[in-house]
Amino acid sequence: MNTIPHFDISRQHQKLRPALDEAYDRVLSKSWFVLGEEVKAFEKEFGEYLGVKHCIGCGNGTDALELALKAAGIKAGDEVIVPANTWVSLAESVINVGASPVFADALPGEYTIDPASVQRCISKTTRAIIVVHQYGQPAHVNELLEIRDAHKLVLIEDCAHAHGAVYQEKNVGTIGDFGCFSFYPTKNLGCLGDGGAVVTNDDEYAATVRLVGNHGQPARDVHKVAGRNSRLHELQAAFLRSKLPLLDQWNTRRRSIATYYMYGLDRSMYRLPQVGDPDYAVFHQYVIQTDDRENLIRHLDRGGVGVAIHYPAPINELSPYRSFRTDPEGLSVCSSEKSSILSLPMFPELTDDEVQRVIHTLNNFRG
Ligand SMILES: *Cc1c(COP(=O)(O)O)cnc(C)c1O
Repeated sequence: MNTIPHFDISRQHQKLRPALDEAYDRVLSKSWFVLGEEVKAFEKEFGEYLGVKHCIGCGNGTDALELALKAAGIKAGDEVIVPANTWVSLAESVINVGASPVFADALPGEYTIDPASVQRCISKTTRAIIVVHQYGQPAHVNELLEIRDAHKLVLIEDCAHAHGAVYQEKNVGTIGDFGCFSFYPTKNLGCLGDGGAVVTNDDEYAATVRLVGNHGQPARDVHKVAGRNSRLHELQAAFLRSKLPLLDQWNTRRRSIATYYMYGLDRSMYRLPQVGDPDYAVFHQYVIQTDDRENLIRHLDRGGVGVAIHYPAPINELSPYRSFRTDPEGLSVCSSEKSSILSLPMFPELTDDEVQRVIHTLNNFRG
C-alpha cells in the first residue's frame, strides 16, 4: 500500500516543470540575480493580488517579521505580544530587534490568538502585537484592531500560513499595519528555497523596510541607516511568478479537501477545527484533536497515512524562550492542546481517493 504523504511538493513541480524551466531560463539568460526585473514584477503582481499599496520582497518569512518590527521602530526595552502556539520565528524576530516577546494564549479549537489574552498581556512597554492567521484561518482581527487603537500599538499580521485568505472582504496581510509572508517551499505559495515579503499601505513603513533589507542603501553607495541583507532573489521571484496565478485554484482545492474532512470524519472520535467561514480560510493545515494521539499515529502509520504535529510545544516552553512573560493567567489552551493536535495530509495535489482513504483510516481507529 502506498503511503499518503502529509505533504509532497514534487507532485506540484512535476506539473509545473515547463513553467519553472522557463522561469529559470529567463533569469539565466539575463544573468541578473539580485533585485532586478523579476523581483520588481513579482512585488507588483503579489501586491495587486492582495490589494495593497506596497510589497517588498525579502529573504524569508522570519526576516519579513524582523523588517516590519524594525520599520515600526520596535527596539530594546519594548514588548511585543505574540501567540505561543506557533512557529518559533515569532519569538526570534522580536528578540533579534532587541525587544521581548510576551506569549498570549489561543482560542480553543480555533488556534488563533485569543484577543482577551492579548489584552491581559499588555503592559506599559507593549508596542506591538503580531497575529498569526494560524493554519490558514483568519484570526479575530477586528478585536485586535480595537486593542491596537486603544493602546496605540502596531499590528503585524503573520500570513505565512494564509496567502489568499480573506477577512471581511480584505486579504489578510492588508488589514493591520504590516503583512508578513513566507514563501518557504511548504507554504500555500512557496518558492524553490527561502523567500519572503512584507506588505503595507504606509509609504514610510514601505520605504524603511526596503532600505533596511538592502544595506540601508536608498541608492548605490549611499548608506542612510545601519541595514542588513535580506532580499528576495531573482530566481525565486521568477518561480513565484509562475506559481502565483495558480494560488486561488490551489486554495480552492485545499478548501474542498477540508470540506471532505469536515463531513467525513467521525465527530464522536475527533475534535475538528472551529472554522469561522470555511470560504475564507485557506487550510495550510487541517488540524484535528484526539485524546489518544500516540496510538492514533501508530494506527495511521500502519495504514499508510502521513501526519505531522504543528507544533509539538508552545514557544514559551522551548528552552531559549522560557524567561519571557506570558499571559498572567497562564496559557491553558496552548498547553493542553499541544498534546492532542494532529495535522492531516493537506496539499492541493492529494487525490479524492487519498482523502477518502485518510478519512476511512481515521474512522476505523479503535484505540
Ligand atoms: C514558516 C513560518 C514563518 C517564517 O518562515 P521562514 O521559514 O522564515 O520563511 C513565520 N511564521 C509562521 C507562522 C510560519 O509558519
